[in-house]
Amino acid sequence: MPITGTTRLLGVIGDPIAHSLSPVMHNAALAELGVDAVYVAFPVAVDGLETAIAGFNVIGVQGFSVTIPHKQAIVPLLAELTPEAQAVGAVNTVWRTERGWAGTNTDVAGFMAPLRGLRDGGLRDWSGRTALVLGNGGAARAVVAGCGQLGFAVVQVVGRSVQKLADFKQSWVTSPLPSALTVHSWADLPTLLPTADLIVNTTPIGMHTTAAQSPLAAEHLALAPDHAVVYDLIYTPRPTQMLSLAAQRGLNTLDGLEMLVQQGAVALELWLQQPVPVATMRQALEDWLAAQAT
Ligand code: NAP
Repeated sequence: MPITGTTRLLGVIGDPIAHSLSPVMHNAALAELGVDAVYVAFPVAVDGLETAIAGFNVIGVQGFSVTIPHKQAIVPLLAELTPEAQAVGAVNTVWRTERGWAGTNTDVAGFMAPLRGLRDGGLRDWSGRTALVLGNGGAARAVVAGCGQLGFAVVQVVGRSVQKLADFKQSWVTSPLPSALTVHSWADLPTLLPTADLIVNTTPIGMHTTAAQSPLAAEHLALAPDHAVVYDLIYTPRPTQMLSLAAQRGLNTLDGLEMLVQQGAVALELWLQQPVPVATMRQALEDWLAAQAT
């Protein structure tokens, strides 16, 4: 579809943003659908958020993704928030309504998607199970909300700052979270791992410069039950060191690519109000990442 005077504008705001994979998957889907729209990356610095949103109003941007550092800062600029965005306290997807901009958090759905139909093809029932979440930052908030929706009975969050852990726990007090949420230090891992049905890494340990590192050592993973699923939100490198160690231990593993694809698919459906080609989005990302790795 050629870009013309009628082409609608979608995009992502963040800083830094040049590394974003979102344009790759969204434009692949738009091309397949033959929709007259384009998705671009907008570099918006911390102090430029309000100006950027005002500009989007004027030039008719249809909707946009939000990434670091704006996921929380954008909340007061929106007219509506979904319950998911309220629970997480952060927005990653924004669209136009008659009353103004509306925001949601599609990371929650993205996180849950691969857990719902894990490998065996059937729906997997996580109700009553225990999740162990490494890290207490923004992605951990989406993970905790997702674990709540999946019916986990216990969600144990591990962090390195006592104060941040206390704040994290406190921030869920008014949320409709059915699970028991407990917070722990990394030193508690040996007592937490034997009961963990799902282990999720939400720290950046294993990315980029730390690619040789794993947030869990082989000795840690040896303590996990044989049926445990180890889920790393990182999507490059594939596999991460943690997932390599987990696979060597014989555990089920999931990386972050499917979460990235699924959160993007939910966002694109919101903007276009039609089903989107998820397989095309996944393939575009896999091809892109494979090309970068060579
Ligand atoms: P964030 O808000 O900065 O949170 C990172 C968390 O990791 C914080 O709790 C931080 O602890 C902890 N942490 C960082 N370095 C650590 C270290 N060396 N040792 C122990 N803990 C450490 O970042 P985020 O937005 O949550 O993103 C986290 C990761 O998730 C990134 O790798 C990102 O790419 C990935 N992610 C993937 C998807 C996807 O679609 N697959 C979506 C979102 C995020 P402190 O709070 O103590 O600093």
